[in-house]
Amino acid sequence: MTRAIIALVLVGLLGLVTAGLALARGGPPASQKGKGPTKTPLQQEWIQEVFVDYVNPSHAGPGPHPDTESSSFKLTQGGISWFSDGDVKYKITGAEGVTGGNTAIEAAIATLDGFITTRTFTRDDGSPSSNPCGGVNTVRWAAIDGSGGILATASVCRNVATKEIRGFVVTFDTDETWSVTGASGLPDVENVGAHEFGHMAGLNHVNGPKDGCLTMYRFASDGETQKQTLGLGDKLGLDALYSTGDTSSGPGCAS
Ligand SMILES: [Zn+2]
Repeated sequence: MTRAIIALVLVGLLGLVTAGLALARGGPPASQKGKGPTKTPLQQEWIQEVFVDYVNPSHAGPGPHPDTESSSFKLTQGGISWFSDGDVKYKITGAEGVTGGNTAIEAAIATLDGFITTRTFTRDDGSPSSNPCGGVNTVRWAAIDGSGGILATASVCRNVATKEIRGFVVTFDTDETWSVTGASGLPDVENVGAHEFGHMAGLNHVNGPKDGCLTMYRFASDGETQKQTLGLGDKLGLDALYSTGDTSSGPGCAS
């Protein structure tokens, strides 16, 4: 096994890269030529951005809810996006204990699909599209960290050089008691889902108190549904990535 292959396997075990090519970048410095083997840096072709999303912490109160939507947005890695191509197929697994959960997930993806002008997203549990970072595009229900704390995570697979997004895995924590109706005291599937699929589209978090009613605000509160619909900053971010032309405000903070 060559040094390059060993290095790739080690990196893969760390979960930082699961597929792709390892390409030696450049050659040894002139001063080292003729001195035997040298270490050459590896260039990963595909890596994953992993976002971990928490319920609004108690010390932060019920969550900031300003009167107007802010225009804030932040692009992941300064701008990663789905390039133009056909249908992106994904599967949903493990939702047996969450009645109505899959319908809510599909609704959340449809919200972002309307703004990702370069692709369409279709649920196909039988033949989902492959993910260059490993496996296939998946939304799954799985235990993460017990009740509270982490609600969901999103792994977004992108090409290092081109910044093209071409895969995702979103995980909802089955240790939570989920609602699909915005019930008080419970996290709402579509509310959290729209946020996760915002990451899938290429959006990062916004954190300021004035950003509290945007879909990409960092935390989600129990009983909250306002993230189901995109706010002004969310739309401006998606326009920057996909030239949607929609720079209008959303339906407001309470919607
Ligand atoms: Zn997030």
